[in-house]
Amino acid sequence: MTIQSRIDRAEGLEGAPADSSPVSVKLLRPLRLVLLGAPGVGKGTQGELLRERLGICHLSTGDLFRAAGSRNAGARTPAMEAALQYMRRGELVPDATVWELIRDKSDSLRSRDGFLLDGFPRTLAQAGMLKQFIDEEKLPLSAVVDYEMPEAEIIMRLSGRRICAKCKSVFHVTWRPSKTEGVCDECGGRLYRRDDDNPDSIAIRLETYKRNTAPLIEFYKNLGVLLSVDAAGSAEEVFARTIAALKMRAR
Ligand code: ADP
Repeated sequence: MTIQSRIDRAEGLEGAPADSSPVSVKLLRPLRLVLLGAPGVGKGTQGELLRERLGICHLSTGDLFRAAGSRNAGARTPAMEAALQYMRRGELVPDATVWELIRDKSDSLRSRDGFLLDGFPRTLAQAGMLKQFIDEEKLPLSAVVDYEMPEAEIIMRLSGRRICAKCKSVFHVTWRPSKTEGVCDECGGRLYRRDDDNPDSIAIRLETYKRNTAPLIEFYKNLGVLLSVDAAGSAEEVFARTIAALKMRAR
């Protein structure tokens, strides 16, 4: 992943990079994906790899909210201000606010190459809104990739996670420490802990996931688009599993 693409990620929405993919993806166009999975399974990292190597637009609601949060307080709407409070506590932002954010980016959903949704939908109501939109616009989903990981590992990942404020590279205090504490190896930016990566918010996010988002697995299974992928191992291993699953499905 290039530094520039990581810096672009701070804006939450990235178009496809100009260079084309090293992966043979002829079978996979257009590719319209939803990434599912508990917080901490690595959806954001996989989203980035998929964007970079398959050239599809990556839309992350979490990144969009964080980008809004880092803007001047005066430039935020009251709905966005409220959304940021929910987010810090680890609770879900109201469906209507999330949908407004997605609707603003609907041109990206119409992209010829497809799209990649990461962090949306997160409730059955959001899944319903998305379904209505893609049915009306005739943009059927290619697949919904559900990343699976035991909860104990998720908690360890999130509680030690550190992120570069500048390029968004992800480190871990135990498993991937930076060479100099608090400083990004990639760009020299400052490493920080996400506001919602504290123990109380992590517990709330996992509970919220189980209650609100896990039911989407059944929803998409019933629509015949669910692909389950084991999220253990390195980002490259998980990426290879994802591509293999997508290719199997495209056959
Ligand atoms: P994670 O998957 O690690 O929890 P995200 O970056 O996807 O992180 O989201 C961070 C927070 O942003 C969520 O805990 C929630 O508060 C808010 N958020 C993001 N997407 C949605 C959504 N689709 N619906 C409601 N809230 C959302």
